[in-house]
Amino acid sequence: MTTIKLLPELLINQIAAGEVVERPASALKEILENSIDAGARKINVQLQQGGVKQIRVADDGIGIAKDELQLALTRHSTSKISTLEDLYQITSLGFRGEALASIAAVSRLTLTSRQAEQGHAWQILVEGKSISQPTPSSLTQGTTLDINDLYFNIPARRKFLKSEATEFAHCDEAFKRIALSQSGIEFVLQHNGKVRRHLRAANSAQRIASVLGEEFQQAATWTDEQSAEMRLHGMVALPAYARSSRDRQYFFVNNRFVNDKLISHALREAYRDILHLDRHPAFVLFLDINPESVDVNVHPTKTEVRFREPRALHQFIFHAINKALASPHRTTQSEQS
Ligand code: ADP
Ligand code: MG
Repeated sequence: MTTIKLLPELLINQIAAGEVVERPASALKEILENSIDAGARKINVQLQQGGVKQIRVADDGIGIAKDELQLALTRHSTSKISTLEDLYQITSLGFRGEALASIAAVSRLTLTSRQAEQGHAWQILVEGKSISQPTPSSLTQGTTLDINDLYFNIPARRKFLKSEATEFAHCDEAFKRIALSQSGIEFVLQHNGKVRRHLRAANSAQRIASVLGEEFQQAATWTDEQSAEMRLHGMVALPAYARSSRDRQYFFVNNRFVNDKLISHALREAYRDILHLDRHPAFVLFLDINPESVDVNVHPTKTEVRFREPRALHQFIFHAINKALASPHRTTQSEQS
């Protein structure tokens, strides 16, 4: 005889964490997105041991009210949507209200936050089922999240984590994706106490150069195409810069990094006649499209999306890139904004 029972909250969150928090890099992505949604102008990331020991993200965003700190860590609690319609007008990166709850279920977490009108900051600690009451803390502004000992309470899962160098590389990649899409925000990335990246607020072209290097910038051509429905802008590398792996393919839909088959196909086709089959194009492209024309609620990590008019989009991307590659137009950083 089996009996059906409702699982305890902690276990539900730990199961969800399996999807949302695959490794330190996925936790980092989620909390960076939260800082961006909070309107941060400067974000500081400190990692210890590839993020496995610690991920600390400090932002100067709007902060969380003292009496909402515990709610922020509760599953399905979000300040970003309240109706189903909101989902199809979405402009924030988050909306599912499950990242913090999931991360908290598989780590030792400290959340410290201060809203501008509060006299000082408040802090709560979470470990397993225990969530502390808010205690006074110090912070000049915004939110600082400390995620310690990821998967300390799920040894079987912890074993899937790779070496420190590999986990750091994944974190760095997650950081780069976010940084590329948010050029107006200043970012610092530290690992084991050393500054690995410091990106000052810049325009998009400058940010691309500081993240991917001058070499990419030199080898790439700028594109900016607009239709009634959408705009595609960014940089595509000329064939000489093509790579043996897909490591420099950055495509953002409304500033969200996505990995989409349809888009990859359109790009591949645009390069078809000029690129060897075993080479991969490199690009940083931004698609701005009416939020109603794209469904971002396809997968918990939101790197998959669905388009309302896939064929029109394919055509649009193909033609834009084809055109850019046919008549390379290199611009200096100062011409772009
Ligand atoms: P979501 O981002 O989908 O809303 P999360 O679990 O990531 O869900 O966060 C829950 C809520 O906590 C957010 O809706 C937001 O109100 C608040 N929050 C999280 N991180 C921050 C932050 N860095 N600054 C301000 N508010 C935050
Ligand atoms: Mg979030």
